[in-house]
Amino acid sequence: SIPLGFFGGIGAASKVGILVKGGNYLEGLNEVDTIVFDKTGTITKGIFKVTTIDSYNGVTEEEVLELAALGESFSNHPIGKSIVEAYEKEIDKTRIDNYREIPGKGIEAEIDGNMVFVGNKKLFEDQNIKITEKASIGTTVYVGKNGVHIGTIEVSDELKEGVIEDIRSIKSEGVKRTIMLSGDKEETAKKVSKIVDIDEVYGNLLPQDKVKILEEIIKETRGKVAFVGDGVNDAPVLARADIGIAMGALGSDAAIEASNIVIMTDEIGKIAKGIRIAKNTKKIVV
Ligand code: ADP
Ligand code: MG
Repeated sequence: SIPLGFFGGIGAASKVGILVKGGNYLEGLNEVDTIVFDKTGTITKGIFKVTTIDSYNGVTEEEVLELAALGESFSNHPIGKSIVEAYEKEIDKTRIDNYREIPGKGIEAEIDGNMVFVGNKKLFEDQNIKITEKASIGTTVYVGKNGVHIGTIEVSDELKEGVIEDIRSIKSEGVKRTIMLSGDKEETAKKVSKIVDIDEVYGNLLPQDKVKILEEIIKETRGKVAFVGDGVNDAPVLARADIGIAMGALGSDAAIEASNIVIMTDEIGKIAKGIRIAKNTKKIVV
């Protein structure tokens, strides 16, 4: 039989914007000793802004932005959206053919008959396009045309409001280990984790790498392991965690579907609240 208290707990959680898909997940929150966080859209707002544009090989900055914006015009990725927004002009989609999204790397498209690549270092390594490297703390987006690196667009995201306090309150509810996984480059991921005081960090990850690392963490953990994420690429990781927690407002349908708990307000402080509700519910049940 299902103890009545669990329904009370689920109701209490839903009142504060935490949707729990079953009493066992609420009970599980009580036993979480490790939480693994995605970076973009989970710790940060997931809303990027273009900060700088550099161009190389005789191409203008305007052309770099135009090609990148055309290439990204079918993308739902927050980085792609920020580039389209920075372009400001209307996009003639008839100029674009063979658009393809490459998860964890970027996009490729044929624009006016030219092969255009927009994405990270991994994408350019796959294509054997030599890049002019640039040291920066933000997220670096390389733009390539017909096998040549023509420009670099720098984008940056912001921390979510109150996220430093939120991590602190999660730890004070008894979570022993916090980890961040990111597809973004190592330096950016490290910087963010340091500011918010997340204990461990892994950067440069492809979606499948995140699943592998999570599986290793689950193996070495006695208690339950929760994963918190938002993106469509996170669905396999959310599904693999003991408790998958999705961001409701920012998250994709796939992420929400694959999760056990949905945070409707996207505030990770709600996890600490959920743990507290789980503890109180247990007290009532026993
Ligand atoms: P995260 O783990 O931060 O959510 P993603 O897996 O969504 O990251 O993406 C990882 C990296 O892949 C991004 O930091 C970016 O460098 C690159 N990337 C992914 N999609 C795009 C895109 N549409 N345009 C440019 N770069 C992209
Ligand atoms: Mg993501």
